[in-house]
Amino acid sequence: MGDPTGFLRIERALPPRQPVKVRLRTYEELETRMTVAEARDQGARCMACGVPFCHAGCPLGNLIPDFNHLVYEDRWREAIEVLHATNNFPEFTGRVCPAPCEASCVLNIERVPVTIERIEEEIADRAWDEGWVRAQPAATSTGKRVAIAGSGPAGLAAAQELARLGHAVTVLERDDRIGGLLRYGIPDFKLDKRLLDRRLAQLTAEGVTFRTGVTVGDGDDGGVSVASLRAEHDAVIIAVGATLARELPIEGRELDGVHLAMDFLVPQNKRVAGDTVEGPSAAGKRVVILGGGDTGSDCLGTSLRQGALSVKQIELMPQPPDDDPLAWPDWPMILRTSSSQEEGGERDFAVMTKRFLGKDGKLTGLEAVRVERVDGKLREIEGSTFTIDADLCLLALGFVGSTVAASGDGVFTCGDARRGQSLVVWAIAEGRECARDVHAYLTPS
Ligand SMILES: Cc1cc2nc3c(=O)[nH]c(=O)nc-3n(C[C@H](O)[C@H](O)[C@H](O)COP(=O)(O)OP(=O)(O)OC[C@H]3O[C@@H](n4cnc5c(N)ncnc54)[C@H](O)[C@@H]3O)c2cc1C
Repeated sequence: MGDPTGFLRIERALPPRQPVKVRLRTYEELETRMTVAEARDQGARCMACGVPFCHAGCPLGNLIPDFNHLVYEDRWREAIEVLHATNNFPEFTGRVCPAPCEASCVLNIERVPVTIERIEEEIADRAWDEGWVRAQPAATSTGKRVAIAGSGPAGLAAAQELARLGHAVTVLERDDRIGGLLRYGIPDFKLDKRLLDRRLAQLTAEGVTFRTGVTVGDGDDGGVSVASLRAEHDAVIIAVGATLARELPIEGRELDGVHLAMDFLVPQNKRVAGDTVEGPSAAGKRVVILGGGDTGSDCLGTSLRQGALSVKQIELMPQPPDDDPLAWPDWPMILRTSSSQEEGGERDFAVMTKRFLGKDGKLTGLEAVRVERVDGKLREIEGSTFTIDADLCLLALGFVGSTVAASGDGVFTCGDARRGQSLVVWAIAEGRECARDVHAYLTPS
């Protein structure tokens, strides 16, 4: 612990964001960087607690007090080594993680946790800028072959770990580009895809082979069956995510203008990547987003950038409280405002959509009812039916599972495909853990 009184003297501070009107003009990430002095000050706020709850809060077990201390001492090169010891892709988590580490920071008892996530991002960005992040190819080969289905953060983390251990790794991806939801899901304004490309270049230099446009499954649909992959490899990892979206099968679902969130988000990411693709547009429309989570929030930021006339984000559950003083060191269920929600639109809570309204096959609105929680269950409030005008409705209701079910000797599963819809940080953690299991399977002692 560099500065024993840092947490008493120094306020929690983050660099200011760009003004909303500047942010909405572009799909680029517009984060302002911390200066070295600012990062050092924020690192000095870490109390190096005897029991660092942040370690447990982070699914990766990131060594948070250690890297905070190194930043405080201006030892950035060692800081990235400490960070990489537990996290393959800190520049991703430093940007998109909801930061359970900060929720469990002891200073969060006072609602002023150390700016852990931001320090992580600064360490990673600085390491790349300085050229400290290099390929680490294995010195020797084990002669073992591993196939990984799915190229999201779980598949990529597993691939990197196994390649560095000397295994020959091939990643098979159904889509036309590598990266899973990091590529086609999370918008560019939250995660610049150039950061993903430079990691992929690193993995390639470490010996990982990537193949796009390959569907792994039962083999019936022209893709590759898990059984045939297994026959050609010493182990197979299924890291195909949980991409089956939850539907809303109510009257009017078939109307033109009602779309799954991913049918809206993915084409936009492709356009930013330079492709010409069709897809629903929010330009000039009254947009309603059903679902108050990350995906809904990304639809909101994207709708505003596309030039929506208005955007409403509707959540079925009641509005959570602003504070939950008893939650620490667990994850508090409180009202959060994402960067997209800061940019505009309206939010409404405790609203259940009953049917979509339309004319000539086109969406014109939604009929909804207010709900309340009684004995832990949601109950419709009598006489509260109302309508909302809408030309575009995006369903961001979560995901129900994966398209591939596989098990058997030498077949492993990780990431969202194993745990259900989750977080990037969990996907990386699972990819790493899965790689350890695969390595133990391939090289029994
Ligand atoms: C819109 C959106 C925004 C999100 N925002 C955040 C955020 O801000 N922060 C956060 O922490 N988490 C966020 N998440 C969640 C996070 O992205 C996921 O938890 C994480 O990407 C899961 O990683 P994964 O590797 O398990 O799967 P995925 O990232 O889903 O990758 C799976 C890959 O497998 C491929 N695939 C699927 N089926 C097959 C098949 N049969 N054969 C071959 N390949 C196949 C898919 O095309 C995909 O590329 C968000 C999710 C969504 C949908």
